[in-house]
Amino acid sequence: NSATSPPKDLSFVVDSPNVEYTDNEILSKYTYRTTAVTWDGGKHVVTPKETVYNFKVDRRIPKVGMMLVGWGGNNGSTVTAGIIANRRGLAWDSREGPRSANYYGSVLMGSTIKLGTRAGSGKVMNKTGTGVSNKDFNIPFHNILPMVHPNDLVIGGWDINNMDLSRAMDRAGVLEPTLKAQIRKEMASMVPLPSIYYPDFIAANQEDRANNILSGSTASMAHVDQIRQDIREFKAQNGLDKVIVQWTANTERFSDIIPGVHDTADNLLKAIAGGHPEVSPSTVFAVACILEGTPFINGSPQNTFVPGAIALAERHDAFIGGDDFKSGQTKMKSALVDFMINAGLKLTSIASYNHLGNNDGKNLSAQKQFRSKEISKSNVVDDMVEANSVLYKEGEHPNHTVVIKYMPAVGDSKRALDEYYSEIFMGGHQTISIFNVCEDSLLASPLIIDLVLVAEMMTRIQWRLQTGDDDYKGFHSVLSILSYMLKAPLTPPGTPVVNALAKQRSALINIFRACVGLEPESDMTLEHKLF
Ligand code: NAD
Repeated sequence: NSATSPPKDLSFVVDSPNVEYTDNEILSKYTYRTTAVTWDGGKHVVTPKETVYNFKVDRRIPKVGMMLVGWGGNNGSTVTAGIIANRRGLAWDSREGPRSANYYGSVLMGSTIKLGTRAGSGKVMNKTGTGVSNKDFNIPFHNILPMVHPNDLVIGGWDINNMDLSRAMDRAGVLEPTLKAQIRKEMASMVPLPSIYYPDFIAANQEDRANNILSGSTASMAHVDQIRQDIREFKAQNGLDKVIVQWTANTERFSDIIPGVHDTADNLLKAIAGGHPEVSPSTVFAVACILEGTPFINGSPQNTFVPGAIALAERHDAFIGGDDFKSGQTKMKSALVDFMINAGLKLTSIASYNHLGNNDGKNLSAQKQFRSKEISKSNVVDDMVEANSVLYKEGEHPNHTVVIKYMPAVGDSKRALDEYYSEIFMGGHQTISIFNVCEDSLLASPLIIDLVLVAEMMTRIQWRLQTGDDDYKGFHSVLSILSYMLKAPLTPPGTPVVNALAKQRSALINIFRACVGLEPESDMTLEHKLF
C-alpha cells in the first residue's frame, strides 16, 4: 500500500517556484522571518520583519580528505577504524553477540528529520467526510542536502607519536579484538605525519610520546609552511578536491592573550615568524589551514582561536569552528538544563564529577590543562539562565562545579556523575542524579564525522540578498552552525552563543532546509488541529 508505506528511495525534489535545480546547483529563494522589538519610550513595539535571501548549493559531491591532528590518539584511531569498518560493511563477534558497523551517535548519519507530511491512509477525518490523515514523512538527516558520505572520506593526519594506526588502536583499548583483526592490515599502513610539539602547552606527562616531531620548539613560519605542504601533498596523493582539518590532539593549556601578539592577524603572523613562545601548536595549525583555505575545527577546549586567528580567517574567508567536542556529560547538560529552565524549574546548582583513565585523562590531570577543560565545561548553561528573568535576577547564576580525576583502571570508559538541584513549587526541591558511563572515544568519533560533513557542506553553500546586486558569498568564517557538536561554541565576534541542544539542532536543520527552499519545521501541526 503505497499510501502508508513510503518507498525506500528517500531522495526528493522540491516542487516550488522558489526552487530551481540545475545540473550543478540548487538555487532557492527563501524568506527569513524574524521579529524586531523596540522601545518607543512608553511601550515595546514588536514588528515582524522579512529578509529575502537567495541560496545556492553546489550539488556536486567532492572527494574529501579528513586530516586529524592527534591522529594516533584514542579518538583518531577509533574514528579511523570506525570508518573503515563501515566502508567494508564489517561484522564481528563480541562477548555480547554479533555486532556490525554503524554510525550511531552521528546526528547526520543516525538521526532523521521531518521533511513534511504525506497523505496517509485516506481514513475520514473531518466533519464533511473528505479529509485524509497526514503522516510525518521523515528522512535521514544526511539526505536533506547532497552531502559527502563518511565512507568516502580519505583519512590522514599528524601525531607527535610515531605509532601506526594499528598499534595506536591497540594502545587506545577501545575496540573488540575480533574487529581489530579484520582491519589491522589497513590500519598498519597508516602512519601519522610528524607534528609540532611545544612542550609547555600540554602536560609534562605526555613527553614520552613525543618521538615524531618537527624541529623547533616554538612557533615558526617553517612550521606553518610544513603543515600547508602536508595538506597539499595529501590532497595530490589522493586526488582530493578538498581537505578538512580537525584538532583532536591533547588539550593544551590556555594561551595568555598578549596585546601585540595575539590581537590582530598581522601581529599573530609576526609573532609566529618571530618564534613567540606564547603561540600554541593548535594556533599554528589553525593559521596554516586558514592560509591554505582549508577549514579547521578545534575539538579540544583551549583558546586556539585567539582574536588574531579569527581576524585572519575573516580576511581569507576561511572556515573555522570550535571548541571542544560535546560528547557526553555536557551534551546531557545542554539538553537537561534547557528542559528544566524552560519548564519553569529554578535550577540552583550543578555538580559535575568525572573520572577517566585514558590518555586524555592523564593529560587533564595537570592543572593548566584541566583549567582549559573546566572553562569549556562551565559556561554551557549561561544563555539558558540569562533568557529567564522570571527565575533569575540579573547576574544571578546557578552554582556550577566541575571535577575531573584520572583513574587509569577504567581506561576509555569514562564515568560522569552529575547532580542537578532545583527549587520547585512553593519552596520545594528536586534533585536529579545522573550516572553516565560510556566509552569516550565511541561518543566523540561520530562527532568528528559530523563536524567534517557539515563543515564541508558549508563550503558548497552560498548566499546573497535577493534585493541588491551583491554577488553570492559564503557564510561567516566562524561556523557557529557546528555548535550542536561543540561544548563551547565559537561564534562570529559579537554574536551570541547558543548552548541549548535543541536550538542548536534546529538551527542546523532549518538552515539546511532553507537551502532547498523549505520553511523551518515549526511543530505547530495545525493540519492535525484545525479541521
Ligand atoms: P588522546 O590523548 O588519546 O589523543 C591525543 C593525541 O594527540 C595523542 O596521540 C598525542 O600523541 C597527540 N598529540 C599531542 N600533541 C600533539 C600535537 N601538537 N600535534 C599532533 N599530535 C599531538 O586523546 P583523545 O581521547 O583522542 O582526545 C583528544 C582530544 O579531544 C582531547 O583534547 C580531549 O580533551 C578532546 N575531547 C575528547 C572528547 C571525548 O573523547 N569524548 C570529548 C571532548 C573533547
